[in-house]
Order: sequence, then C-alpha cells, then structure tokens
Amino acid sequence: MVKEKLLRCKEIIKGAAVKSGISEGDVSIVAVTKGVSLPLMCEAVDEGVLDIGENRIQEALPKYVSLNDYSANLDRKINWHMVGHLQSNKVKAAVKMFDLIHSVDSFSLAEEINKASENLGKVQDILMQVNVSGEESKFGFSPEDAEKNVDKIKSLRNISLKGLMTIAPFSDNPQDSRVFFKSLREMRDRLNKARGYDMKILSMGMTDDFEVAVEEGSNMLRLGRALFKEEGL
Ligand SMILES: *Cc1c(COP(=O)(O)O)cnc(C)c1O
Repeated sequence: MVKEKLLRCKEIIKGAAVKSGISEGDVSIVAVTKGVSLPLMCEAVDEGVLDIGENRIQEALPKYVSLNDYSANLDRKINWHMVGHLQSNKVKAAVKMFDLIHSVDSFSLAEEINKASENLGKVQDILMQVNVSGEESKFGFSPEDAEKNVDKIKSLRNISLKGLMTIAPFSDNPQDSRVFFKSLREMRDRLNKARGYDMKILSMGMTDDFEVAVEEGSNMLRLGRALFKEEGL
C-alpha cells in the first residue's frame, strides 16, 4: 500500500524536478507520521523511507523507540524530523530525539535549543520556519524577522542552520502555493549570497502542493496523506 503511493509520489517528483532543474535524487521525502500506526511506518521503512517526521514529542516518543528497533534490525538508521511547533518545555526531549528540527520560529527557541544541545554535547541541525504568507494562524518568523535573526542564529555554536521551512496557506488550488514557495527559495538564495552562507535545505511542499513545491525548487517534502491515507492522493 505505502509502496504504490510512494512510487506515485516519486513519479510526480520526477516530472516536477525536470522543471526546476534539480535532480530528482536531490529531493528528499520526509514521511510525516502523525496519527499513523507503527505497522504502516514499518512499511515505509521497508520501502526505503528513512526520514520520518513528527509533530508532537508525546506521540513521537513510543514510535521513536519501536521504529528505531525495527530499523536497527534491518541495519538502517532513521533520521527523525521535528516538523511541528516546539514548546520550550519540550526542547530537551526534542534535542535528544531529532536529527533535524524544521520548526524554529523564534530566536529565544533557537537559544534554548542551543543550550540543550551544548549540555548534550551535540550540534543540532535546524531550519528556520518562515511564515511567508503572513497568515496569523501560522507559526514562523515573518520574512523581515527571519532576515533580522539569521545572523544571530548562525552565531549560536551548538546549532547548525541548514535552511528554511514554510507551510503554505490551505487552498483548494495547489497553484496558490507557488508564490510562497518561490518567495522562500528567493529568500534562501538572497541570504546565502549576501552573507556567504550555505543553507541548502528548502523544506516546503505537502500532500496537496508538493508538485508545485518541487517545481519551485523544494528539496525536502513533508508528506503525510500522500503516503499513508487510504484513498490515495
Ligand atoms: C501534517 C504535516 C505535514 C504533512 O501533511 P500532509 O498534508 O498530510 O502531507 C507536513 N508538515 C507539517 C508541519 C505537518 O504538520
């Protein structure tokens, strides 16, 4: 089941990657498994999906232990992604678990992650979440605040800033997301150029708009329903 859905997603990615000029293999798929059962997650691992995203620590924790056991038996290592809003009282647990935190949405959160990472002797990879659309209901730096805070975040020694993440506003038409994805890509390119940074990751595109995201240069998709929902895409 997951197998067919994954193949279908990869076909779509392949077609879209031609348009953005990045190679299909450079687009990684993070399987977002909130509300997804362990057997389905194991199915994804069987198909070679080794990037797993979760929204909430509490839900992630038991699955983290079980799926790591499962994949260790296959000699595979899972990369764990935190894609949901992170509360400060969960920072310590998050730094222990996750390989990449996508949802860093304030400088104070970055500072807390830095501190927790230092205590663990770890350098935590993160993305800055940018609220490109300015929707009030969404977390994330405003584009202006992202530009203002990027140097400060870069200067934290136990954090490594790998790129930017955004969530496009909900819409029935995936084309509506295009302008926001383009804007995030331009922001990354501008920051890299102006400051000599090497942020590579653009985490953008979900089930409803990942084709458009890849066309606009996304190299990290966060896919939930596309991989796990019964009715398919
Ligand atoms: C749930 C979720 C996803 C996956 O959503 P789908 O539309 O099911 O692909 C991606 N990113 C975040 C932050 C999410 O919360």
